[in-house]
Amino acid sequence: MSNRPETNKQSCPVYKKCGGCQLQNLSYPEQLEFKQKKVEKLLKRFCTVEKIIGMKTPYHYRNKVQAAFYTDKKGKIISGVYQSGSHHVVGIDSCQTEDVIADKIIVAVRKLLPSFRMTTYNEDTGKGFLRHILVKRGFATNQIMLVLVTGTPVFPSKNNFVKAILKQFPEITTIVQNINPYRTNLVLGDNQKVLYGKGYIEDILCGCRFRISPKSFYQINPVQTEVLYGKAIEFANLKGSETVLDTYCGIGTIGIIAAKNGAGNVIGAELNGDAVRDAIVNARANNLKNIRFYKADAGEFMREAANEDEKPDVVFMDPPRAGSDRKFLESLIKMSPKKVVYVSCNPETLARDLAYLTQNSPYKAQKIQPVDMFPHTAHIECVVLLTKVLR
Ligand code: SAH
Repeated sequence: MSNRPETNKQSCPVYKKCGGCQLQNLSYPEQLEFKQKKVEKLLKRFCTVEKIIGMKTPYHYRNKVQAAFYTDKKGKIISGVYQSGSHHVVGIDSCQTEDVIADKIIVAVRKLLPSFRMTTYNEDTGKGFLRHILVKRGFATNQIMLVLVTGTPVFPSKNNFVKAILKQFPEITTIVQNINPYRTNLVLGDNQKVLYGKGYIEDILCGCRFRISPKSFYQINPVQTEVLYGKAIEFANLKGSETVLDTYCGIGTIGIIAAKNGAGNVIGAELNGDAVRDAIVNARANNLKNIRFYKADAGEFMREAANEDEKPDVVFMDPPRAGSDRKFLESLIKMSPKKVVYVSCNPETLARDLAYLTQNSPYKAQKIQPVDMFPHTAHIECVVLLTKVLR
């Protein structure tokens, strides 16, 4: 194509093998156009779709980077990502979507392994020590967490290893060993030991401070998350006395920002216990007393709340890719809040849930705003405002 407005600056040598950046053959403006069309195709029957909000600099946006390891027949250690649809490790030292410092830390750890006689885990045999590395960085605080996922708990030279990596990267604020002895696709196991620092990092979003543990969910593109949450809060248009539910709340981000932006009373629900613990700490760290969090399946939580005749004014919902479920949506209709703000990371399940809501209740989509949280990939995030329309 000769008249591209902006060509993709960094074409990646492992584009095909990795499969993570499905849209890399398109320039960034073309990617945005592609996503806009896809959202419109799926959602325009519900209401007009606003123009997707893209990134100014759509590179190195990921604040969380994960690497798998593999030792080849000659004993050379490779680190990188799994080839899409397989468990074959594609070696990469840097990636256009990943944080630059995180990538450097991963390469440094890989280079240190032989001198510490640390083996890499072999998925076929279930033998070997280091399975994965996870690096999370708070972009606003520059706090960095290194998580070493090991197949066995015994870490023979851990103190020297920690010293060696800190010598190269004094900016690392915490190092955690996570133990995953199971034959599983899940990266993280249940047990962990803090080897250095506090065992968590913090970040700042929309003026609020958040604690992030190794296992709790945190949006991976903080620059665009501020845009996304900004829209969610704008759609809720809080006046100061509303009761707000933050469902699928993770570490409490949306609810806490809502509480800082005028909500009278916030209740959060989340399935992951680590995330709920972080949410409770986060509410305290932001000096908020009008907010409570429950560890619960969101559908169950909604059913109970509806049975107890709770009448929230606004319900935020931010389910995982699978979308919400019937139990949740039925209870939502029963509770009948003035506004529903649906944050979605999968327009297909969003379309399904919107179809259910609009067919079975007076709710109607008033605004649909796509936000590009994942440049170069095919993933699309949207925030939708629903209100009741009398028929
Ligand atoms: N609102 C948060 C988290 C969104 S990700 C944020 O923006 O950071 C979706 C969250 O839903 C994850 O934290 C996940 O643990 C949680 N989750 C997944 N299934 C759930 C369920 N059935 N009930 C409650 N929470 C669930």
